[in-house]
Amino acid sequence: MVLDNLGSSLRGTLNDLRGKSRISEEDVEGVVKEIQRSLIQADVDIALVQDLSDSIEGRALDEEPPAGTSARDWVLRIVYEELVELLGESTDLPLENQTILLAGLYGSGKTTTAAKMAWWFSKKGLRPAVIQTDTDRPGAYDQAKQMADNAEVDFYGDPDENDPVKIAMEGLEETADADVRIVDTAGRDGLNEDLIDQIERIETAVDPDRNLLVLDAAMGQSAKDQAQEFERAIGIDGVAITKLDGTAKGGGALAAVNETDSTIAFLGTGETVKDIERFESSSFVSRLLG
Ligand code: GDP
Repeated sequence: MVLDNLGSSLRGTLNDLRGKSRISEEDVEGVVKEIQRSLIQADVDIALVQDLSDSIEGRALDEEPPAGTSARDWVLRIVYEELVELLGESTDLPLENQTILLAGLYGSGKTTTAAKMAWWFSKKGLRPAVIQTDTDRPGAYDQAKQMADNAEVDFYGDPDENDPVKIAMEGLEETADADVRIVDTAGRDGLNEDLIDQIERIETAVDPDRNLLVLDAAMGQSAKDQAQEFERAIGIDGVAITKLDGTAKGGGALAAVNETDSTIAFLGTGETVKDIERFESSSFVSRLLG
């Protein structure tokens, strides 16, 4: 548990508990209020913040801290445990032959994440391929091809075809030699029937092993609605959060994993194909509270 990573007000409030072995209701309320502030600032959904605060408050008051544990360490441990439990382990990604479909809104970072994931799998010794099915956004093909080249992975797309399902099917055939096929899809500025209808058709045709939702870390409260819609349409197995190199803390992802009963697979931390990490709950929690 890294107290240094916590925001200064939260650290201050927790430090006020230093030396105390018993914790009063007032102490707990003070800490919970600071935690709420950090989480809301990190874009965590309000209803989730409330649920989390209730659990933290309940446990801090009801449960006995283990012998020798200070009130401060006890509260901190409860906070970490509750957040880590909600976020869960990293999405299971066996290093084997598979097809992964990426879904998400326009600009969320799907195309970039497709190439990054391909690069990540190639570093694990597999042969990945990116299949680009975005026929709506001008430049999507060129961008995807360029990034796949940067990642030195196989690529399939067809700038002259405007049926994404056809491209996807052709792509699966053309990349039959690959171990991992990552299918990138079109996005929209917002959720609408066209987008959902298109991704449902692609999903039915491709029959992927996993569907990942790509979310911009700055997405905030609307992450919940997106997650619900994509979950209803195709089912979401994992989330990739992009742009964590910026100021946003990615708290919207908590609602997304909660709504889809899924986990986080990857974190995007920059614009190059190498800027990708597997999700790890404790450092993500430190970031959320920081
Ligand atoms: P798509 O419309 O969902 O395919 O989104 P793109 O992959 O085209 O990404 C939209 C923009 O976000 C591009 O300018 C990317 O370079 C940028 N981007 C994507 N992921 C990251 C990231 O992790 N960090 C940063 N800084 N930029 C990113």
